[in-house]
Amino acid sequence: MEKKDIDWGSLTFAYTKTDYSYACNYKDGAWGEDILTPDHSIVMSECAGIFHYCQEVFEGLKAYTTKDGRIVCFRPDMNAQRMYDSAQRICMPPFPVDRFINAVKMVVKANLAWVPPFGSGATLYIRPFMIATGDVIGVKPATEYQFRILVTPVGPYYKGGVQPVALKVSAYDRAAPHGTGNIKAGLNYAMSLYPSVEAHAEGYADNMFLDSQTRTYVEESGGANFLFVTADGGLVVPQSFTDSILPSITRRSLVQVAEDILGLKVEQRPVRFDEIDQFVECGMCGTAAVISPVGKVVDLEGNEHVFGAGMEHVGPVLAKLRATLTGIQAGEIEGPEGWVVEIA
Ligand SMILES: *Cc1c(COP(=O)(O)O)cnc(C)c1O
Repeated sequence: MEKKDIDWGSLTFAYTKTDYSYACNYKDGAWGEDILTPDHSIVMSECAGIFHYCQEVFEGLKAYTTKDGRIVCFRPDMNAQRMYDSAQRICMPPFPVDRFINAVKMVVKANLAWVPPFGSGATLYIRPFMIATGDVIGVKPATEYQFRILVTPVGPYYKGGVQPVALKVSAYDRAAPHGTGNIKAGLNYAMSLYPSVEAHAEGYADNMFLDSQTRTYVEESGGANFLFVTADGGLVVPQSFTDSILPSITRRSLVQVAEDILGLKVEQRPVRFDEIDQFVECGMCGTAAVISPVGKVVDLEGNEHVFGAGMEHVGPVLAKLRATLTGIQAGEIEGPEGWVVEIA
């Protein structure tokens, strides 16, 4: 199969249309057949539920080429299950886990020419999402939906090496206690745009959100979970007592790598913001960057909280964790069974 004529190394995180998208419609109480379509537009009623009451959930994962030339993706069953849970929380019909995994394979196979080659650092980003397409005017769940997957080639997250970033503690809240912070839905992003634009304008890479009930505990950033490292080399992962942190697949995988492969001590517990000066490393984790090291956090009073090497280097524990997980993803390090799933 001939690859597209693309300068893979210069791709950024932007949308490029590929050959096919996947679609499946829900009508009369059932999901229909698998559709591969070259049409990248969705035409629907102005009264569709998505436009009025925001019934939308999504996922993000990537397909990439291993050293020995296989096209694989990482733990798609976890994305399938999380989207199932997200859909149920906002009264959408969940898309079956096995069909989700099969749809990911179908759409990647239909776009093999767009999967970046090994060594380019680029990947094929996979964005499954579901929207309410049926008409609703009174407030209630729609009766018709579309599950869809678009794929698009994207560049390496870090060009020219991993660099620590600066964060600010947000004066805004991301998620209500016992609200929807634990599901992956567009509605959680709409209200995070204002604080995100503000943080960027002030020179910060992202926000650190505290729990909205007490403003005492660390929750997460706009789109990544936090990891901390103690002075004696243990990993500490914030837990929410109001269930408002999104269950990152990267974070759950890193916890398992830390415990089972690297033999680190791992604590998953609520983390008070006033403890963070005791940590020597901090990072944000998610599919896009795996781990983004955090050099410093500036609090609401303007005080700087600097971790270990600050803005200069990535700390050794997070660097090791990142190298181990990316090694497993690339097929260079043996990981737990079923994590790397072959597509072609
Ligand atoms: C997607 C997402 C993450 C990261 O999850 P991964 O499964 O690791 O990619 C973290 N926080 C939020 C709010 C997210 O939407």
